[in-house]
Amino acid sequence: NREIHLASRPQGWPTADNFRLVEAEVPTPAPGQLVVRNRFMSVDPYMRGRMNDVKSYVPPFQLDAPLDGGAVGEVVASEAEGFKPGDTVLHGLGWREYALLDARAARKVDPSLAPVSAYLSVLGMTGLTAYAGLLEVAGMQPGESVFVSAAAGSVGSLVGQIAKLKGASRVIGSAGSPAKVERLKALGFDAAFDYHDGPVRDSLKAAAPDGIDVYFDNVGGDHLEAAIASMNLHGRAAICGMIAQYNETEPPAAPRNLALVIGKRLTLRGFLVGDHGHLRDRFVRDMSGWLRDGKISYDETVVDGIENAPEAFLGLLRGQNLGKMLVRV
Ligand code: NDP
Repeated sequence: NREIHLASRPQGWPTADNFRLVEAEVPTPAPGQLVVRNRFMSVDPYMRGRMNDVKSYVPPFQLDAPLDGGAVGEVVASEAEGFKPGDTVLHGLGWREYALLDARAARKVDPSLAPVSAYLSVLGMTGLTAYAGLLEVAGMQPGESVFVSAAAGSVGSLVGQIAKLKGASRVIGSAGSPAKVERLKALGFDAAFDYHDGPVRDSLKAAAPDGIDVYFDNVGGDHLEAAIASMNLHGRAAICGMIAQYNETEPPAAPRNLALVIGKRLTLRGFLVGDHGHLRDRFVRDMSGWLRDGKISYDETVVDGIENAPEAFLGLLRGQNLGKMLVRV
């Protein structure tokens, strides 16, 4: 049983030295517990925040202990009612080959309905984030124009497609490479730009000459500033993430135009997907239907081997993923 420990806390950008591959015993379940052989684990931007020793909405990772996070795998031993070897479960103890879980921390998923990795991507946490953020937090209405940043990523690519399905008049995405921009167009975005090509503010103005009504923020900084500049009266932003500043050691230089929020009567609303569990059933119903009907596509970038999980995480921060970044354990 191999697992990845946090060896040291990163200052600024993390490096491979911040992680350690450790050999551990395969655990045995006590009454009420199960042991799961993980098949896929998720690496997510929020994990960077948990590597800092600061109080936040999730506790920090501990040094010299395994990291954790979303994973799916097969039950290999069970002392818990309702679970048997061979069951596929979703749970929160990734970054290891074998996980020892209390039964109440595991949720059974049906591997015949979707590839098991989908429970960590399109049908999982990032899918619900896109759905809840766009429809509930920003309250997108048909006929509105929508801008989403990190649009070729897991959350962003779904935000854009859901917006189109829900009748957005124009959907604009930004991403970090020409290949990603091409992918966004293939996914049905009306316009897309590479944010390296010039000031985001100018690129967005060109892509959305009539302004935007909704901004789904995954990036913060200059992207948020550009969105505020392009927002129409009564525009709303769902503030989902600010990945541009997760590795910065200085406070961000942008947005510098927050005062526009007043005159334009804008709403900037932060949210955490964990508060939107009430939408889960509706989300799964809608998303499964869209997938079945071929109305939504999703990308996954899969890195093989638990030993490469740190590299997958670093790659995610650098933008090496198209869609959801996953590790096949
Ligand atoms: P993604 O799949 O979008 O991967 C992250 C992407 O961010 C990279 O692929 C990269 O793409 C982009 N990126 C990295 N650095 C920068 C930068 N400096 N400027 C612009 N883009 C950058 O990850 P997720 O879909 O999992 O998450 C997207 C966002 O949503 C994150 O901010 C995350 O923290 C947030 N989130 C929030 C949740 C909540 O409950 N509030 C829940 C889940 C996610 P590129 O090549 O385009 O630069």
